[in-house]
Amino acid sequence: MEIIKDPSRLQEICWQWRAEGIRVGLVPTMGYLHKGHASLMDEARAKSDRLVVSLFVNPSQFGPGEDLEAYPRDLERDAALAEEHGADVLFCPEPASMYPGSSDVWVEVPEVAAGLCGVTRPVHFRGVATVVTKLLMLAMPALAVFGEKDRQQLAVIRALVRALFIPVEIAGHAIVREADGLAMSSRNVYLTPVERAQAPRIFEGLRLARDLVHAGERDAATIAGRVRAHYAEHIPLGRADYVEIVHPETMTPLARIGEEGAVLAVAVYLGKARLIDNILLNG
Ligand code: AMP
Repeated sequence: MEIIKDPSRLQEICWQWRAEGIRVGLVPTMGYLHKGHASLMDEARAKSDRLVVSLFVNPSQFGPGEDLEAYPRDLERDAALAEEHGADVLFCPEPASMYPGSSDVWVEVPEVAAGLCGVTRPVHFRGVATVVTKLLMLAMPALAVFGEKDRQQLAVIRALVRALFIPVEIAGHAIVREADGLAMSSRNVYLTPVERAQAPRIFEGLRLARDLVHAGERDAATIAGRVRAHYAEHIPLGRADYVEIVHPETMTPLARIGEEGAVLAVAVYLGKARLIDNILLNG
């Protein structure tokens, strides 16, 4: 595995591969890798000839007062894990090289980014969309794999790839969870033991919603209300940021769960962490 810091070097290798008809798979991450990331790498590895993993704590997707400095980092451990999961290249650039005097060039996907996390994190998806566009232009992958855990992010990326005619297949990978249901996240290290004990109830609320839908409930406000009540009762240390039922592609609010399905998306503040999770609801 080659560790690359220089964007031009990455582009040189990857564009060469593309010219030779070699299929590149890309897995963008912010590092502090866990089994969720590993599972994305395994999927990309299985579907391509070369695997590029990027590891970049992208400053532009953090707002003022967010955890950019505190975000956990461990390059040595990440490199070992990426190599173990078949990475040919680990791309870990410095922020200055990814934003070379062009911080006024942004990619925005207004509709998809407006709700959910976009409300409390107004610059977040602009930062994500911009850095992912840069990564796609550098690695020119045939395939890029993203986690469904960040479902709004996945929707933003699908929308930008479609709008900008970027020739890449975007694959969404199922959420990887701890044995007790908590979605794996680099930010789970922020949780104290008592907070960690309450965190699995986030997914419990999502399962409750799915059971309600199976039992015939279709009204979004009723379902979201039940999930909010579940969190208020069972996550006393936490505070729900949002609990919303949205369209699976546009991420805009739905009043009812219909044939085309819906996503129940939640964000919960728990101690120093803000944890997100979601589930598909089929009408
Ligand atoms: P991050 O390093 O948190 O920015 O995540 C990098 C990629 O891994 C994103 O596409 C995430 O959606 C994905 N990811 C993170 N956690 C999980 C998880 N528990 N299950 C599946 N994918 C995940």
